[in-house]
Amino acid sequence: MEKPFGQNRIRREDLPAGENLCEYCTAKCCRYFALPIDAPETFEELEYLRWFLLHDRASVFKEDDDWYLLVHTTCEHLRDDNRCGIYATRPKICQDYSFTNCEYEEDSVYDLYLETADQVWEYTEAVWQPNARCARSRKPELLPVLA
Ligand code: SF4
Ligand code: SF4
Repeated sequence: MEKPFGQNRIRREDLPAGENLCEYCTAKCCRYFALPIDAPETFEELEYLRWFLLHDRASVFKEDDDWYLLVHTTCEHLRDDNRCGIYATRPKICQDYSFTNCEYEEDSVYDLYLETADQVWEYTEAVWQPNARCARSRKPELLPVLA
């Protein structure tokens, strides 16, 4: 039986020449897809982002002024041993993807990462303050001060 990928870890810089980094990975790139989206420039477009994130397993990130919708969902052809089940006929985007510039490391960060609809509201309020309608409950009146 073939050894599962990702059982052993290695630092990228320690990968021996000629070896495949994917053998040390739990197939991170097969567990999501990301689509480029227009940068939100209006209140309505920010509301689209909030709507996206009302759905589970969706998030939005920004990298170098490019915005993406990220959906955390595992490819149905990823096997339990973290190998591709259709390797010979995998889609071209998978064939073209290379471990030389991938998300193998655990510490990668984005310029902006929004995980929840509430975070989109906070972002909207920050960048669109004058026109943003507040979705939160109204702040309660203070109790009267008794002399
Ligand atoms: S390309 Fe990168 S993220 Fe994808 S399986 Fe290989 S090492 Fe992991
Ligand atoms: S087709 Fe194979 S390489 Fe492509 S995402 Fe699915 S499991 Fe990964």
